[in-house]
Amino acid sequence: MTNCRTYAIANQKGGVAKTTTVASLATALVDLGKRVLAVDLDPQACLTFSLGLDPDNLELSIHDVLLGRVSARMVAQPTAEGPDLLPSTIDLAGCEAQLLMRTGREYSLRHALDEIRAAYDVILLDCAPTLGVLTINALTAADEVIVPLQCETLSHRGVGQLLDTVHDVQRLTNPALAVMGVLPTLFDARTLHTRAVLADIASRYGLDVLEPPIPRSIRFAEAPAVGKTVMATARRTPGAEAYRVLARRIAGVREPAVPPTTQPAVAPVTETRAVQTVNLDEPDDEAGSAASNYVEAGLAEAAHRGWEQR
Ligand code: ADP
Ligand code: MG
Repeated sequence: MTNCRTYAIANQKGGVAKTTTVASLATALVDLGKRVLAVDLDPQACLTFSLGLDPDNLELSIHDVLLGRVSARMVAQPTAEGPDLLPSTIDLAGCEAQLLMRTGREYSLRHALDEIRAAYDVILLDCAPTLGVLTINALTAADEVIVPLQCETLSHRGVGQLLDTVHDVQRLTNPALAVMGVLPTLFDARTLHTRAVLADIASRYGLDVLEPPIPRSIRFAEAPAVGKTVMATARRTPGAEAYRVLARRIAGVREPAVPPTTQPAVAPVTETRAVQTVNLDEPDDEAGSAASNYVEAGLAEAAHRGWEQR
């Protein structure tokens, strides 16, 4: 038994900030003193790039681990920003087909990670935008799943499919799997529509909403181009602080007390008003600043209740 917790960051929709969430959270958790392993389960290897490794120059990758050719310990590498990484390469694209022919294919990742779990406090799994064997492997290996979600029309359709897969995994391969919640990403609080979609998804599926939302900010698009995360390139941007809040929650570090003037004990869920969520040490682009400053009071309260119950 170890105290390591494993989180799958999953949504079969592409471009919802799964990889950005894994890279930013991993680095924020390292800053909190945690030993972190990030696992790239996408053949496009964006996480591997984002953490500063070149997938074209890797001899061994998660592909070799999943096929049982080498141990995870042999493939995990340190990265400049602190987390260890099980990198991906394009080889992983053929892995699904090869795994499909194997007995126990859903457990490949779980078994591989069992061998190195004791060396880490947190393992973060960056899923590919599919609900195929690789994502089933991630859900089978995880304790909890976090669903990054860009709140737009019809984004709930993907959530239903993903939850069906989660329920299958709970029934068949990993009864202990829990859904931690939906993480609103690329969030623009100026759009009423965004809030409506988020509230609808939370109530429709009975999911917790992880607060604060991650504001949309150009800083996130800039960082991977130089093989770094936003924690290194713009650590004081509101989006970086939003990821640090999530990292503190995962690490079990208490949030600083919220002044009573900004968090009234009883707030009508339907009312929308300004709530200060992060310190704006540095001006960010307009949308990012607006989004980080204002969250829907009802959602903030729900998240707050969720934290108190933990
Ligand atoms: P996924 O892994 O779900 O496909 P990514 O993490 O690769 O999504 O993000 C998709 C794109 O959106 C990337 O170009 C990334 O830099 C950008 N991005 C991620 N989060 C944000 C954000 N909060 N604000 C603006 N752009 C973002
Ligand atoms: Mg990705």
